[in-house]
Amino acid sequence: MKHENRIFNILYIICACLTLTALVRPFLSQNAIPAIASGPPVASIDPAPSDLTPAEIRRAALTFDDGPHPVYTEQLLDGLKERGVQATFFVTGEHAELHPDLIRRMRDEGHLIGNHTYSHIQLTADNREKFKNELIQTNEILYEITGDEIQYVRPPYGSWDKKLETDLNMFPVLWNVDPLDWQTANAGRVARAVIGKVSDNDIILLHDYYDTSVEAALMIVDELTRQGYEFVTVDKILFD
Ligand SMILES: [Zn+2]
Repeated sequence: MKHENRIFNILYIICACLTLTALVRPFLSQNAIPAIASGPPVASIDPAPSDLTPAEIRRAALTFDDGPHPVYTEQLLDGLKERGVQATFFVTGEHAELHPDLIRRMRDEGHLIGNHTYSHIQLTADNREKFKNELIQTNEILYEITGDEIQYVRPPYGSWDKKLETDLNMFPVLWNVDPLDWQTANAGRVARAVIGKVSDNDIILLHDYYDTSVEAALMIVDELTRQGYEFVTVDKILFD
């Protein structure tokens, strides 16, 4: 009788565990942050950053387009500062003019500032002059704010004309990892898209114009730092 009771108790515990697992699993899969924070099995085999030799350290560059945004860019700068991470900001002249204090803060905190045209114009077959003038105008605005010559440009939508490089003495910066952060309000999804695809020396495209992108960026920094990544500005990836 005692023996039967014990078997019954064991079966009861097994059933309870299975039920609990079934209840909790859908919750875990819908929430990116617990999945990342608790460390999936693959991530857990990565050595701690302090155990890596210099040759094993991987690098990535976070790039943020379309800002500065008065609220989200500030939140992002706070988060990056807390983590000691430098990024690259491709700003529009229009937004830089509105928020010169944020441009100065980017420069003061070691971030690299690039040109994303004045009004986010796309280069087409018949607007080359206007496009070029927007780049010049934005360089002038940024020079006035920072005192620095701007060397890097991210052409909106990736449309570029190689001849502009010599005309303007500027270098275009495209990207390797695009999580399409502007298409979703789910920060976890954006973070997972980047973390699942990134490899050494990748350039990650995000936009500091959405709160969820900023949230995703900081998740990406935390998880990839844990995996041994170091974040650098794009010039280091392109020329070092
Ligand atoms: Zn853009």
